[in-house]
Amino acid sequence: MPLQVHAPGEEHSRVAMADEPAADAMSVGLAAPVTSLAGVGPKLAERLRRLGVRRVADLLFHLPLRYQDRTRVVPIGSLRPDTEASIQGTVEIAHVQFGRRRSLMVRLADGTGALYLRFFHFSRTQQATLARGAVLRCYGDVRRGPHSLEMVHPEYRIVDAAAPAPVEETLTPIYPTTEGLHQLTLRKLTTQVLALLARDSGGTLSDLLPPSLRVPMGLPTLATSLRFLHRPPSDTRMGDLEAGSHPAQRRLIVEELLAHRLSLRVLRQRLGRRRAPPLQGDGRLRAAFARRLPYALTAAQQRASEEIARDLAADRPMLRLLQGDVGSGKTVVAALAALTALECGYQAAIMAPTELLAEQHQRNLGHWLGPLRLPVLWLSGKLKGRNRSEMLARIAAEPRAVVVGTHALFQHDVSFARLGLAIIDEQHRFGVDQRLALADKGRQGAEHPHQLIMTATPIPRTLAMTAYADLDTSVLDELPPNRQPVSTVVIADTRRDQIVARIAEAIRVGRQVYWVCTLIEESETLQCQTATDTAAALAAALPEVRVGLVHGRMKDGERDAAMSDFANARIDLLVATTVVEVGVDVPNASLMIVENAERLGLAQLHQLRGRVGRSGVKSDCVLLYQAPLSALARERLAVMRETADGFLIAQRDLELRGPGELLGSRQAGLAQMRIADLVRDNELLPFVARAAEQLLAEHPERVDAIVRRWLPDALHYGSG
Ligand code: ADP
Ligand code: MG
Repeated sequence: MPLQVHAPGEEHSRVAMADEPAADAMSVGLAAPVTSLAGVGPKLAERLRRLGVRRVADLLFHLPLRYQDRTRVVPIGSLRPDTEASIQGTVEIAHVQFGRRRSLMVRLADGTGALYLRFFHFSRTQQATLARGAVLRCYGDVRRGPHSLEMVHPEYRIVDAAAPAPVEETLTPIYPTTEGLHQLTLRKLTTQVLALLARDSGGTLSDLLPPSLRVPMGLPTLATSLRFLHRPPSDTRMGDLEAGSHPAQRRLIVEELLAHRLSLRVLRQRLGRRRAPPLQGDGRLRAAFARRLPYALTAAQQRASEEIARDLAADRPMLRLLQGDVGSGKTVVAALAALTALECGYQAAIMAPTELLAEQHQRNLGHWLGPLRLPVLWLSGKLKGRNRSEMLARIAAEPRAVVVGTHALFQHDVSFARLGLAIIDEQHRFGVDQRLALADKGRQGAEHPHQLIMTATPIPRTLAMTAYADLDTSVLDELPPNRQPVSTVVIADTRRDQIVARIAEAIRVGRQVYWVCTLIEESETLQCQTATDTAAALAAALPEVRVGLVHGRMKDGERDAAMSDFANARIDLLVATTVVEVGVDVPNASLMIVENAERLGLAQLHQLRGRVGRSGVKSDCVLLYQAPLSALARERLAVMRETADGFLIAQRDLELRGPGELLGSRQAGLAQMRIADLVRDNELLPFVARAAEQLLAEHPERVDAIVRRWLPDALHYGSG
């Protein structure tokens, strides 16, 4: 089918048409609701809706997960275990076997070999038809059985040996489905829709990729690709389909990746059209701050600060991501940015994902800014009653202040006197929506605050292209010079005694120790209970050691006290849940023990381990696991032992576990794409990034349609 090239205006009106129900019921169009297809009543329509299929055309984008090859009947003698195949043979014997489970065993032979069909559930009639001499066509999984190859519960039908039954003409698609919706139904529906597609001659289903993008990549048109993927011809190589490398697949992969990237680029464009106060500053506060720092900035900190300063001076809101491995010194960079806002008479807000971290920022900033006589205001969920209303009044009244807090900062009763910059720490814990909410909070008339987003979860470059396409990026690719690598060992949980001796030794030479309790259960209560028990057991084993405890369910005062006791070395051993994961900074701590390390993601382990090795002292990390370790878990823990490079760890995590964990809650959609796979299709991402810019520049009218086709629900661009 030839590619339809439309004039831009024409294209747009076609897309708009797709939103209206089919006007003419006689000719069912691709834009019509699925109920216009033969055999689709309200019940089936409801099931299809669960799969995101509402219109006829949606079925075309409901793509197969995999394929079966029923186009050939394979000689039984050539079968291999752990494959799927279609076979035909004659029943030699059939008998009921009484073992641990009663089963009907049917021996099927075709002259090249024989195998057993095994049925655990069977009716009397079934047993009667599967009798000696019957000729069967079967499809199923081939497995190794106790005596020969077997197929357990194959699909089968009786055939007439004299009149050969036809084989399938195309590979058989297996669709993602939902309860009560059979593959056969989906197959029948897609057959109907493919027939409509053939008549649609470019009307409803526009090919949104311009030839200038498509042709040089050797990608087929949309209609060709869809037809192919729903019904691949029998000579298609299964290997290509499994690898996602067939041009028809790549065509749709590119479009889906493009849709994701474009949705963020559009968001970026809309935000970029907003106005922001230009924050140039005279540098005086920054200079005073830098003079008081006990160290010089690293080259990376300097570079990032300059990039930020340049953005802040503009009258468009900065949207910048500061990526830096744990311990790379992001807080200092944030403080410099905040001081720029204060130099201009504006407020800067710093939002942290946990109370613990917010408190630490408050302490650090208070320590840095107190001598400069600059107020550090503080808002958390814990602040109640009069304290809270007093603080709210100050935030609303003091235009030259730093405001630190948790997500309590964007509750409805908070209003800022003059917010010029919103800094969001450990961004992977927050969603895009929360970030936008804070920007909207700080809005003053037509002006929006600048945004600096910080993350210690290094995102591999290609992944960042997709996940952070709405942001400019600065990277702290260098640690402060005094750091020593943390040496990591992986030890079975049964050797706790040795570890207790190690803890005693570290504390004897004046160091401090973290013990992190983790559980796979989501239950916070259980996790806190475990931490409490562990703290008690360790205190009993180490009577001379001062043990502290921190978990999410403690009374506010208790936890603050424990944290600050640890920071001030009044506690030697801190037993904690993963609340210490992000950002906690106690440089004297040199040993960390992590329980059940095999259950945590690599990025999370890296974060935890980053709590030690924060000074010149040699540090150790002990990863405890519960045996036996799976091969995958072993491989993952080995990565932790072998490297301290956060980017490398993130890359390995991405390969081993997929993007879901790395991106956290931020971009759940990226982890569940329909045909693209961020890990497998990694090498397409740079091309997609360029293609997105080209589309935005040359075919802006197609952008919305592409995004809507692939992300029908994900579009709530920031308004205003
Ligand atoms: P992160 O990037 O993980 O948030 P922090 O900002 O907590 O890192 O910094 C980690 C530690 O390194 C802190 O104790 C901080 O004071 C220290 N630090 C930051 N910058 C430097 C530097 N240029 N030289 C030496 N130490 C530094
Ligand atoms: Mg930090």
